[in-house]
Amino acid sequence: MELQIEYIPTGEIIRVVSQNGECKTAAGSDGIRLTMESALTARDRVGVQDFVLLENFTSEAAFIENLRKRFKENLIYTYIGSVLVSVNPYKDLEIYSKQHMERYRGVSFYEVSPHLYAIADNSYRSLRIERKDQCILISGESGAGKTEATKKILQYYAVTCPASDQVETVKDRLLQSNPVLEAFGNAKTLRNDNSSRFGKYMDVQFDYKGAPVGGHILNYLLEKSRVVHQNHGERNFHIFYQLLEGGEDDLLRRLGLEKNPQQYHYLVKGQCARVSSISDKNDWKVVRRALSVINFNDNEVEDLLSIVASVLHLGNVQFAADEQGNAQVTTENQIKYLARLLGVEGSVLREALIHKTIIAKGEELVSPLNLEQAAYARDALAKAVYGRTFSWLVNKINKSLAYKEAECPGWRSATVLGLLDIYGFEVFQHNSFEQFCINYCNEKLQQLFIELTLKSEQEEYESEGIAWEPVQYFNNKIICDLVEEKFKGIISILDEECLRPGDATDMTFLEKLEETVKNHPHFLTHKLADQKTRKSLGREEFRLLHYAGEVTYSVTGFLDKNNDLLFRNLKETMCNSENTIVNHCFERTELTDKKRPETAATQFKNSLSKLMEILMSKEPSYIRCIKPNDAKQAGRFDEVLIRHQVKYLGLMENLRVRRAGFAYRRKYEIFLQRYKSLCSETWPTWEGRPHDGVAVLVKHLGYKQEEYKMGRTKIFIRFPKTLFATEDALEI
Ligand code: ATP
Ligand code: MG
Repeated sequence: MELQIEYIPTGEIIRVVSQNGECKTAAGSDGIRLTMESALTARDRVGVQDFVLLENFTSEAAFIENLRKRFKENLIYTYIGSVLVSVNPYKDLEIYSKQHMERYRGVSFYEVSPHLYAIADNSYRSLRIERKDQCILISGESGAGKTEATKKILQYYAVTCPASDQVETVKDRLLQSNPVLEAFGNAKTLRNDNSSRFGKYMDVQFDYKGAPVGGHILNYLLEKSRVVHQNHGERNFHIFYQLLEGGEDDLLRRLGLEKNPQQYHYLVKGQCARVSSISDKNDWKVVRRALSVINFNDNEVEDLLSIVASVLHLGNVQFAADEQGNAQVTTENQIKYLARLLGVEGSVLREALIHKTIIAKGEELVSPLNLEQAAYARDALAKAVYGRTFSWLVNKINKSLAYKEAECPGWRSATVLGLLDIYGFEVFQHNSFEQFCINYCNEKLQQLFIELTLKSEQEEYESEGIAWEPVQYFNNKIICDLVEEKFKGIISILDEECLRPGDATDMTFLEKLEETVKNHPHFLTHKLADQKTRKSLGREEFRLLHYAGEVTYSVTGFLDKNNDLLFRNLKETMCNSENTIVNHCFERTELTDKKRPETAATQFKNSLSKLMEILMSKEPSYIRCIKPNDAKQAGRFDEVLIRHQVKYLGLMENLRVRRAGFAYRRKYEIFLQRYKSLCSETWPTWEGRPHDGVAVLVKHLGYKQEEYKMGRTKIFIRFPKTLFATEDALEI
């Protein structure tokens, strides 16, 4: 039997895990006994399970070495205190079975090896015992494993939480909402074959018995531009390919679609309709089944798929210029299908695609569009229809997840556990509006993280009656302010340019920006840079020094994306749609409302601020996901890439905060139980208070005064070496 050895200094001494996932402890009765020597070798080989136990905790090299050792042994999880660091293994590990789930159920954090089940269970227990709302924040770059982690946590609850008939359907719906959202919101990118192109926050509600009774999803900023354009090697959203590949013949006939994705302009841009790791046909079946679990009736499914099909038809609408240079539709067939699928008048849609209506002083002015404008209008319509349908879908799922009072007595006392699976920090060759929003979101989360980690450290010291030792850390509030401040923040200035009638362009936005924030230490442009740096900045770019590093953004398209406008006559056409979903998505009030709709950045800013409030009101746990290589390959540990992520996830900072005072802290009972054999006065049983027993014990062990502190319920040990020496003294 091949053995995998995990050294757990703070729980059981040696954990021996066989290949099939069985777990035995060294000193157990199963006959596996390891010598002290092999225990120490094991520690050398697999590193420490908690970074706070690293001797050289300020060294990034030591941090990465520890990760590497563990990764090599398939130990993908490591703690920084209570934060879980996870490295994507890019292969299926046998660590997610029901038996594994059972092993973590109701067991204290430190008694078992690091796992996301430990985080899940710990949060669940706090929720049950303290009745305090929880949230688990999962972050990391694209492909690091956030969505997989979220799904595994949901599965953990589905398996381990108490159940009843009603709960079974809720559990099912919670799980089945995923394939549907992934079909419409995920796509193959260069970084991840199943990349989430939207941010997601999901609340799971539990009743007083601890059974899941409902859920609610909030979605953030879907990458709509993907509907009309994909980079080389990338795909559009999965649902398009699933429908073409898996849809039954008569369904496709009704929708006017051909099986071949090559027929559709919106699907050929990335030139990779097929992906070896994806079976669109199977996924289609999964999605169809999931739709019925989450309460879609046949009509709704038909309406939904009609929209998917109509986006494809829209992509194939083409124009030619007449003698005046005005656009004319040349693809009548597409208009025919669109009219049927969207339930609109064909001629009205055709005219709306090639004209623009403006209301000025109460009068309607209609002007023709040129070729470029018409293509723009068509793409804007496709993005709007798809984007709004996605939001509708989330709403619909929420209705099916909502807990119903009559069915769930006791719902009023429900507690909530939130799961946040949101895009990580992004730096590409070319960074645009989307990256700007995403990185801003990460600044906000980082700020919350720092505040809450520091706060909880402080609270723990205070509640234990130990003097708080202030920690130096970089507060990124200055960058958040730079982006979001009223009047002089980047978003404010962008909005101002978007609203300004006349000659506002991306470049005038950049100039305004330069004028307003020119002396900010985290902001730079070509004009503001010194001679040396200037070379690295284009004239249409600005650079932000994020907490995670520099990112250079090109302002091209900022105004347009922020405005996110759809020509009025297209909106009007959609308002008249007989497709119930489309009709729902485009409300008449939009046409009559005098107020301008909020810009994309402001909407995002407001939704983030709401999210921060939600998260602030809950007790947080963190999972920090790391991607080991860019090749999506198992067993490859690319150090440069990993170092970069360790930096921008702020892990060294996190470790420093956690280690600033004491590396190790444990309840007196647990500490005494573990080490009492080292002292004749505490062995075999200590009759007095555990606090006093520990005091006797550490005196006997010769702990120096500066090495530890005695809190109200816990002992705090400053350096790992003190603990290791004690640990090594244990006879196995
Ligand atoms: P994005 O930001 O692009 O949505 P992500 O962080 O959500 O990325 P995932 O989709 O969760 O990334 O993971 C990418 C891929 O990595 C998965 O499709 C899967 O193949 C693999 N993977 C992630 N986590 C695990 C795991 N724990 N075990 C095995 N494979 C995993
Ligand atoms: Mg994801």
